[in-house]
Amino acid sequence: MYPQVVIDLEKLSHNARQLSRIAAERGVTELAFVTKVFCADTEMVRTIAASPCRYLADSRVENLARSGGMGKERILLRLPMPSQAAEVVRAAEISFNSEQAALRALSQAAREAGLVHKAVLMIDLGDLREGIFFQNEALLLETAAMAEADPNLELFGTAFNLTCYGSVLPSEENLAAFLEMTEKIEKQIGRRLPFISGGNSSSIPLLLAGKMPGRVNNLRLGEALVLGRETAYGADLDGMYGDAVRLEAEVVEVQVKPSYPIGEIGVNAFGERGSYTDIGPRRRAIAAIGRQDMDCDSLRPALAGVTVVGASSDHLILDVTDCEKPVEVGDALSFTMTYGGLLRGFTSGYVGRSYERIGR
Ligand SMILES: *Cc1c(COP(=O)(O)O)cnc(C)c1O
Repeated sequence: MYPQVVIDLEKLSHNARQLSRIAAERGVTELAFVTKVFCADTEMVRTIAASPCRYLADSRVENLARSGGMGKERILLRLPMPSQAAEVVRAAEISFNSEQAALRALSQAAREAGLVHKAVLMIDLGDLREGIFFQNEALLLETAAMAEADPNLELFGTAFNLTCYGSVLPSEENLAAFLEMTEKIEKQIGRRLPFISGGNSSSIPLLLAGKMPGRVNNLRLGEALVLGRETAYGADLDGMYGDAVRLEAEVVEVQVKPSYPIGEIGVNAFGERGSYTDIGPRRRAIAAIGRQDMDCDSLRPALAGVTVVGASSDHLILDVTDCEKPVEVGDALSFTMTYGGLLRGFTSGYVGRSYERIGR
């Protein structure tokens, strides 16, 4: 079935092992792999769960419940909805928190389920997404004390998330502020916290530069795992695959046409004013995929000489003039994707999935 995402489980497995090794060599021994960008696809989760990672993490309770953990502890990354507390404590051993109301709901749900739920406090270091603001020391210590005193909760550690809303990069400065807050909590409760989480794929450059403080023993990695790159500067990581997941679409037309539209130019099907450059007649292919299926701006053709010209709801227009191997109707063309494209590929009802298996 086309279009489809094609998942190379061998490359994914390689990426998982490579990241585990890179992290462990630098003291980050309790890695969490993040499964949300591929909707916790069962085959993919099984593949990464076979690596030495300690945790599986996802932003969605449904994904964690479906994957079942596969022998790993599960972390809920998005702040829990109090209304979902009962599902949260069953689907995740650990959750990230910034609100006392949510902690109370988790505590009650844990008591009813006969469990102790591990709560990690999220600290906002200035990216201004979730977390207790790092300058609000009183609120942070009060929330920590509340979790520590609750018999159904275990105050498990601290975490921060950067480079998401505010595009703030992790640095030695904001990490120092994070550890200072963490140590104040530890002083108050009189014990060391076992889980100190130093960010997401945007923390990899600091890790590689040897600048990750020794106390940090966890990172949560999603994009680096699937796309083989860090997200602070978008650099590809050495020894990792960027094409463990590709998209394939089938060619339904190949014809030579002018590159400049004929007639008076208005707006396109999406009300946008296109910009067109006349570079003479070109060989163009249309692939049967469009904006209804996919974020087409995120597609990068794998075949040299193919470029994306544009996309409407159901058609992806490609220039294949400079392609060495002639593109024909019925061919499946392959693309790599950005993070946004992956997300659409796995959530779209019009995009199928297939697997290239280990040992194929
Ligand atoms: C999505 C998410 C991650 C993973 O981010 P990547 O950039 O894909 O590594 C980590 N932590 C939190 C809280 C997240 O929401």
